[in-house]
Amino acid sequence: MSPVPPFLVHIRCDTDGYTHAVTEDEFAVGRHEGRFRAVCGHVVLAAPMIEEPGRFDPVCRDVLRAEPMAEVPRQERRRLRRRSRR
Ligand SMILES: [Zn+2]
Repeated sequence: MSPVPPFLVHIRCDTDGYTHAVTEDEFAVGRHEGRFRAVCGHVVLAAPMIEEPGRFDPVCRDVLRAEPMAEVPRQERRRLRRRSRR
């Protein structure tokens, strides 16, 4: 695990139907194979993009809850960016 949790990508898994949280790093690594290791440890086989998002995986949610810094709200990011401009 990296000390600073990166941006998360939500990917629906084709095998269990849940939407898992995958870190940006793992997403970059798994993109070649179409398999992504979610924060819960599950290997996600990406479902076709046309499908509706499934239920969010409760295990992933627990992991993210244990690491409150894992998910930075977009608005927060934007605010930080604007602030650094001045
Ligand atoms: Zn998961």
